[in-house]
Amino acid sequence: MPSNKAKVSIVGAGAAGCFCAAQLLKMVPGADIRIYEAGPRPLAKLALTGGGRCNLSNTFEEISDLRKVYPRGSVFMKRALQEFGPEDTARWFRDRGVRLKVEDGGRVFPVSDNALEIVDTLLNAVSGASIACGRRLSPGNLPEDGILVITTGGGGGMELLRGLPVNIVPPVPSLFSFNIGQSSESPSLKELMGISVDAGLSIPGTEFRSEGALLITDWGFSGPAALRLSSYAARHLAQSSYRAPLSVNWTALPADEVRRTLVGIRDAEARRQVKSSRPFGLPGRLWEYLVLRSGIDASCNWASLGNKGIEALSAVLTGDSYNISGKTRFRDEFVTCGGVALDSVNLSSLECRQRKGLFFAGEVLDIDAVTGGFNLQAAWTTAYMAAKTIASSL
Ligand SMILES: Cc1cc2nc3c(=O)[nH]c(=O)nc-3n(C[C@H](O)[C@H](O)[C@H](O)COP(=O)(O)OP(=O)(O)OC[C@H]3O[C@@H](n4cnc5c(N)ncnc54)[C@H](O)[C@@H]3O)c2cc1C
Repeated sequence: MPSNKAKVSIVGAGAAGCFCAAQLLKMVPGADIRIYEAGPRPLAKLALTGGGRCNLSNTFEEISDLRKVYPRGSVFMKRALQEFGPEDTARWFRDRGVRLKVEDGGRVFPVSDNALEIVDTLLNAVSGASIACGRRLSPGNLPEDGILVITTGGGGGMELLRGLPVNIVPPVPSLFSFNIGQSSESPSLKELMGISVDAGLSIPGTEFRSEGALLITDWGFSGPAALRLSSYAARHLAQSSYRAPLSVNWTALPADEVRRTLVGIRDAEARRQVKSSRPFGLPGRLWEYLVLRSGIDASCNWASLGNKGIEALSAVLTGDSYNISGKTRFRDEFVTCGGVALDSVNLSSLECRQRKGLFFAGEVLDIDAVTGGFNLQAAWTTAYMAAKTIASSL
């Protein structure tokens, strides 16, 4: 007997695929939903998110400009978040018994600090769908009847896309730390490993800049400021084979303010050794390193610093030069910049412009964000939008 139930095939049992299925099961009770997953089990990546704690969303309360969090897709996300935003995400999980908490930067986590709670909640919500694991679909074996939703994430799903009537923005990695090239200063930078300061980063000659905590590692720079810059400049850095100059403002303050502060210290602490001051809240080891990099003898007195010395210190403090020589993954947390071009889909429904009944959601779209829960929020939001359109058509 042929079934007359509405049939929806979802390719990819990640965050977007499972959330889309969960929404559909609620909106169209009894719908025939099949999820195809290449890996051995669903939601394997979700279990690793947020270092195993799953930073599932963000309150967005500290965000005044969405371009700063979604370097790709900010215009779309502005509208989309009104359809299904962070409050809707929080309500959905709370309604299913998940207690949530907000950490610094508006990052939302389960109180349990356990990503498996989020995985289990989603798996419960999709128990009415069938999930076929170990099934990597290719252009040749895609289901031909019913509605098809592609939620294959970044990177791995690109081969599948090449068989579909969409434009693809070439994928490149985003969210990585910077390796700093070996030069005379590198050994001493290594000795500062583990120090974290609020800093400003920029790539000279470009508009790419970021601010936030900068962590010195044994290979170079990491922490939110570096990850954010890697996201803003993802395509630029890929094109330059991850080799580029990097300027560090160790104070995150404008140069004239730094110069004024240094002159003030020279006047107030004239007899004190330069190395024993701690301006701008910099840790002692880092301050000494920066003084040395300015060509100043750290044991001299402030009084002996002429205007040239102040200028040299201020230049290093606000525009210290390094060379990026490669990239390193941060805690294996990365996203893909690129994917299905947003001009290939109807932005209200996420349906392919060239083929009715074909939808996209999640990281497979050319939408990606900096760290902070914004990537998963994009997955929930786009999955909801696709599900809503599909439900209204069934
Ligand atoms: C280690 C790590 C930690 C992260 N932590 C966070 C975080 O805390 N907060 C946050 O917001 N973001 C985080 N991210 C990013 C976030 O996980 C992704 O943006 C999100 O998972 C995207 O969801 P998705 O469903 O679109 O893709 P995915 O979760 O990648 O799911 C896609 C699924 O499709 C399957 N698939 C691919 N191709 C095929 C095919 N041809 N046939 C069948 N199946 C296929 C894959 O196996 C996969 O299971 C993290 C990323 C990583 C790697």
